[in-house]
Amino acid sequence: MLNPGDTIGILGGGQLGRMMALAASRLGLKTYIFCPDPDSPAFDVTAFHTCADYEDEEALTAFAEAVQCVTYEFENIPAPTVDFLKKRLPVLPDETVLRTSQDRLVEKTFFRSIGIQTANFKEVSSQEELMEAVEAVGLPGLLKTRRFGYDGKGQVFLKKIEDLDGAFEAIGAQPAILEAFVPFEREISVIAARNAQGQIVSYDIAENVHKNQILNTTTVPADISEGIAAEARKIGELVAEKLNYVGVLAVELFLLPETFEKRLIANEMAPRVHNSGHWTESACLVSQFEQHIRAVAGWPLGDTTRHSDVVMTNLIGNDIERRQELLSSPATSFHSYGKAETRDGRKMGHANHITPIKSS
Ligand code: AMP
Repeated sequence: MLNPGDTIGILGGGQLGRMMALAASRLGLKTYIFCPDPDSPAFDVTAFHTCADYEDEEALTAFAEAVQCVTYEFENIPAPTVDFLKKRLPVLPDETVLRTSQDRLVEKTFFRSIGIQTANFKEVSSQEELMEAVEAVGLPGLLKTRRFGYDGKGQVFLKKIEDLDGAFEAIGAQPAILEAFVPFEREISVIAARNAQGQIVSYDIAENVHKNQILNTTTVPADISEGIAAEARKIGELVAEKLNYVGVLAVELFLLPETFEKRLIANEMAPRVHNSGHWTESACLVSQFEQHIRAVAGWPLGDTTRHSDVVMTNLIGNDIERRQELLSSPATSFHSYGKAETRDGRKMGHANHITPIKSS
C-alpha cells in the first residue's frame, strides 16, 4: 500500500497520463512520467519525468528506483519494458493483462472463455487463410490486425468476395483476425475498477457515438434498459475479477437489436482509463482517474454514484477553438490537454455538459 507522498510511475505521457497525474496529485501522491515523446502533455503536470525510449535500460533503472509502483496509460507498452520493471517493483495491472489486451485473438478467446459473447472470428495469417476464414465466419466482415489497432486503424471492411483481393496486403500482411460484422443498435461501454484487496466497482453504462472512427460523444445514462445496463456492468466486473485486475479497465460492447436472444457482444477491452470514462470527472465524485490511482495505490475504491446526467464531447483538431463558447456555457466543464500542436484527428481536449438526473 502506498503512503502519502509516495510516487507512482506512469508509462506513457499522453492526456490519459496527464489526467492520472492530476488525480494523483489531488490525493497527495506524486507521479513520474516516462515517455519517449518530448511533447508529452503529461510532462507539464508531474513532479518528475523522463523522456527516453522504452528500451533505455539506464533510464528505466533510474525510473524504477524513484517510484513505488508502475502503471501505464496505454496498452502497447513493449513486453521487455514490463519484464525489466516488474523484476524491480510492482507493475499494475500486470503483464498477463497486457498480453490479453494487446492481441485481438487472445482477447476475444479470453472473453469467450469466461462466458462473454463476441462476434464470430477466425485467425488469419495469410491471404489463403482469409479465404478459409470467410467460409467459416461469412461476409460482411472486418479484417483486423491482431496487434496495434486503434480508432479503426489496421482494419478493412469486406462486403463481397471481390473485396478479399489484396485485403491481407492492405492491413500490412500481418497476423490478423476476420470478425463477423455485427449489426449493432448502439455502442456502449463499461468502466470498472478493482484493487488488490479484491474490491470491485463499476460506473453507469455510457453510450458512445463515433465520427470518422474516433469517439465523438459519450452520453450517460445510455438509452438502454435497466436489465441490459446491469448485464453490461456485470461484464466489466467479471473481466476485472477473472484477470485479478488492479486498476481501471474499460470494456467496449455492442448492443444488438431486440430480435437477438443475447444482445451484448464484447468488442474489446482497454486495460487503463478510457476516453469513454471522461464523463466521470464531472458527473461523479470520484473520477475514473482517481479510481485508477486509488486502485494501484492499494487504497479503498471510491463511490461511483452519478450525481448528474452528462454528455462528454471530444474536442478533436480544430474543435479546441470552441474554447470561448464552451468556457461560457452553463453546466459545462472545459478540459484542454495542453497540446502544443493542433492536428486533424488529434484529441485536443473534451467538454462535459451536465444536467439534472432525469428520473425514468
Ligand atoms: P475497434 O478498433 O475494434 O474498436 O473498431 C472500431 C469501430 O469499428 C468500432 O467502434 C465499431 O464502430 C466498428 N466495428 C468494429 N468491429 C465491428 C464489428 N464486428 N461489427 C460492426 N462494427 C464494428
